Amino acid sequence: MRSPSARTIFHADMDAFFAAVEQRDDPALRGRPVIVGGRSARGVVAAASYEARVFGIHSAMPTVHARRLCPDAVFVAGDMRKYRRESRRIFAIFDRYSPTVEALSLDEAFLDMTGSTRLLGDPVAVATRLRAEVRAETGLAVSVGIAPVKMVAKIASDLAKPDGLLAVAPDEVCAFLAPLPVGRIFGVGPVARARLTTLGIATIGDLRTIPEARLAAALGVWGVELACLARGEDARAVAADREAKSYGEEQTFTRDVESRERLCEAIRAHAEAIARRLRRDHVRGRRVTLKLKLARALGGGRYPLVTRALTLPDATDDGAAIAAAARTLLVRATPHDAIRLLGVAVSRLESAAGEQMGLLATDRDAARRARLNRAVDTIQARYGDAALRRGAAPAERAGLSQGIKRGED
Ligand SMILES: [Mg+2]
Repeated sequence: MRSPSARTIFHADMDAFFAAVEQRDDPALRGRPVIVGGRSARGVVAAASYEARVFGIHSAMPTVHARRLCPDAVFVAGDMRKYRRESRRIFAIFDRYSPTVEALSLDEAFLDMTGSTRLLGDPVAVATRLRAEVRAETGLAVSVGIAPVKMVAKIASDLAKPDGLLAVAPDEVCAFLAPLPVGRIFGVGPVARARLTTLGIATIGDLRTIPEARLAAALGVWGVELACLARGEDARAVAADREAKSYGEEQTFTRDVESRERLCEAIRAHAEAIARRLRRDHVRGRRVTLKLKLARALGGGRYPLVTRALTLPDATDDGAAIAAAARTLLVRATPHDAIRLLGVAVSRLESAAGEQMGLLATDRDAARRARLNRAVDTIQARYGDAALRRGAAPAERAGLSQGIKRGED
């Protein structure tokens, strides 16, 4: 039975994403073991086709090791730009199905379908349609797990692979989880697994037989959390941790501003400041939002609020790229109005560390700007904000309402 409060969550995950893109684009690779990753002595496997996985090859494995396991495998250097382009197409499809899409990586997302299935119908039928649409528009396979909570949806999509669909109804969650190894739970790595083994726990079902107090004694707060997860209780909402997180700044001008030039200066100052914080936190964002409060009063102290957003081709931590996007939005939003408040925010965050570890920095201009940004960060860390400024004088940052707005979109 589906309780009225039960949620419906999809976890959609492309199958062997990078390798599948390569196989799609080069018929000679189809049906063959394909490994995408650096060929150098220190390269790692970024993705392996299912034909390669048969040999025990998996991502993050050193390519040297992979070559030993399967000397006949085809090694492909990979093309992050192409994968990002595909990722955008895939997420555009996800976006048609739910307003709440949480990206976990380029090829993987949670979709909160609770409201959508009320509109679109039976979750399994909806997921079937989504899979068919991804297949038709991109030529790629996506597996989908359906469950009332995130963790279970993710496990389900994994078990559904390749090219499958698996739905776990709310009243089936416990039975579904019981036989699975504890390592299936988010955050249970080899160390935790070893600890649990000493407690006689091998499966998620075993976990449920241990009194919570004993788990707490052995593992601390995390033990209690684990007990909840083992019962299929995973309260995390879709998009709570990533999608909703943004880096932004806004300012109410001391006097309304009509000059586009001055607005662009404000945009630039905010963009550079946000970019610095992104770099400091080793994240990049793909979505840029411009928020404007127009100067014409609506009465009662209210003013018309205009927000516009766009998604960049690549995640960025570069102030110039963020400012350029925000300027585009400014032109689109309101050509003539005087502005009372202006804000810039960057969301859809991705880890920049993974990016560097990932494949390649092909774009020379971007690489050059990244070096420049690092140099600027170093100088500013040492001498403060005023030490170095690019181009025109900064906008009146004294008027900043608040520097940091996290968790606001
Ligand atoms: Mg995947």
